[in-house]
Amino acid sequence: MTNFHERFQVAPGKKLRLRDIDPRTTPGFDGDKEAGRARTALRNARLEELQDLLYANGTRRLLVVLQAMDAGGKDGTIRNVFDGVNPQGVKVTCFKQPTGKELAHDFLWRCHPCTPAAGEIAIWNRSHYEDVLVARVHDLVNEDCWRRRYEHIVAFESMLADEGTTIVKFFLHISKDEQRQRLQERIDDPKKRWKWSSRDLDERAHWDDYQAAYEEALAATSTKKAPWFVVPADRNWFRDLVVSEVLVAILQAMDLRLPPVDSSIDGLRVT
Ligand code: ATP
Ligand code: MG
Repeated sequence: MTNFHERFQVAPGKKLRLRDIDPRTTPGFDGDKEAGRARTALRNARLEELQDLLYANGTRRLLVVLQAMDAGGKDGTIRNVFDGVNPQGVKVTCFKQPTGKELAHDFLWRCHPCTPAAGEIAIWNRSHYEDVLVARVHDLVNEDCWRRRYEHIVAFESMLADEGTTIVKFFLHISKDEQRQRLQERIDDPKKRWKWSSRDLDERAHWDDYQAAYEEALAATSTKKAPWFVVPADRNWFRDLVVSEVLVAILQAMDLRLPPVDSSIDGLRVT
């Protein structure tokens, strides 16, 4: 039987069709929003324990990549899934438009220093994938270049995995209509207005190009060592549930142990 989370995984080397995945659906879960939130709370509590163990174990690392269209919910996911996790063991990096110095280097140069250290979880809000997505849609580099980057990405992630980093990548899949509503809210809700950028509308005009770029990039780079998960994300509660479930499953599979203890202090009394 397929585990709940496995149904969202992108099969390596297989063609991916995003339009066949309905962002409003909640596959594998029959409950409503309330039941979903309750299950996420349980999973999040387990995530806290596992993160503690990862930190105590101190030899393994976890890299979490989050990609989505604008207003796709990357920020909300980080807030809702990691809110109880000890911030000391987690570092979040938001990859914005590259600076002049970053552009003067290869596309992976700015990523490597943000990878997790032993015992840490690193979360990437956008990532090196922008360099095969926005770079492709806006012709920032030619086709030869972005196509070759698929191989460079797979090799980079394979190296990280071989050196002890577990990698998991999420594409938060929202519908074009959901994006319309969320961008509209950024205009209408005074508390959200600060998030508004006219760039969002320019990017929205390229919706189909982005979907095509995502389909190809995800299929080309979902590997056993660094799998992609496509998360139906129109419903925030379901999105959080899937991400939390996947993270718990992956951390559990790491079979983390507490570090060896000093048995010479058995029975020692602190006076
Ligand atoms: P939200 O989803 O809430 O809008 P965001 O992640 O879009 O948040 P912004 O500051 O609005 O954050 O946008 C960051 C921008 O930086 C995105 O448009 C993204 O495409 C762009 N960007 C990131 N990496 C690169 C890159 N390597 N090359 C070009 N543009 C990039
Ligand atoms: Mg944005």
